[in-house]
Amino acid sequence: MTYISGKYIIATPCCGAHLATSAYSSINFTASEYWTDGYDHESLAPTDEGLRRCVCGRHFLLQSSKYISAISNPKRRAPAGWETRKDNWWNRFRWGNETREHILKYCDTRPHAEIDAEERSIPPNAIHVQDEEIQALIRANIGDQAFITVIRRRYWRYLNHPAREVYRAFREAHRGEVDSAGNSATFPEYQPSMEQIENMGQLVNLLETAVCPNWLELAELHRELGNMDAAARALANIPVTEEVENLHYVVEKLTSLRVRGPVKFH
Ligand SMILES: [Zn+2]
Repeated sequence: MTYISGKYIIATPCCGAHLATSAYSSINFTASEYWTDGYDHESLAPTDEGLRRCVCGRHFLLQSSKYISAISNPKRRAPAGWETRKDNWWNRFRWGNETREHILKYCDTRPHAEIDAEERSIPPNAIHVQDEEIQALIRANIGDQAFITVIRRRYWRYLNHPAREVYRAFREAHRGEVDSAGNSATFPEYQPSMEQIENMGQLVNLLETAVCPNWLELAELHRELGNMDAAARALANIPVTEEVENLHYVVEKLTSLRVRGPVKFH
């Protein structure tokens, strides 16, 4: 399961402000839907690409921030008067009191004033950025390559949401049209807007100039842009020694079928 063990305190790259962010001790990657453009619907794992807003109003990536310290989840405060009350079986039976040993292990036994002061010293949380805010970031076009790549990727998936609705309705209406392996043979039309085409094109340019291009993501973008040959060339760049992901098979198959739209594959 996804479990948050506490908080990390970070210094933001824009103005050095200290902010808090969730520290995950385990992450469950289960989602209700997995899409070829990397969008996971109702995911239990964080899927925001680490995009955050600082208290100064500027935006940044968690990966570009500086780690300062870690804070564990707070323990429950020790019950009042625990130090002086008698730790015998009668009080435990009569009042349900916890043993001294239990309190020392599971509770915060420091004076309340000290715990209060520590809680006040924790900086505010770094703010998550909603999809609706991203268009303004794209227009501003400020930031390094990693930042612009993230906002364009988030915008790509966001602009594909209406196509997901169309796809779900199409699958529902064509439920019987699957082959013996359960694979779909027919797909809805996908006609991206000028804005989508422009954004996907810019994202392709950014990914192609990366030190280690993500060829699978590039193949998916070319496919959605309708450039099936470019998609096949991107797929051919993936080393054969690499473990082949499920998504790789799906993108390859869709490319060979010349299917253009984002597809739910899980
Ligand atoms: Zn800032």
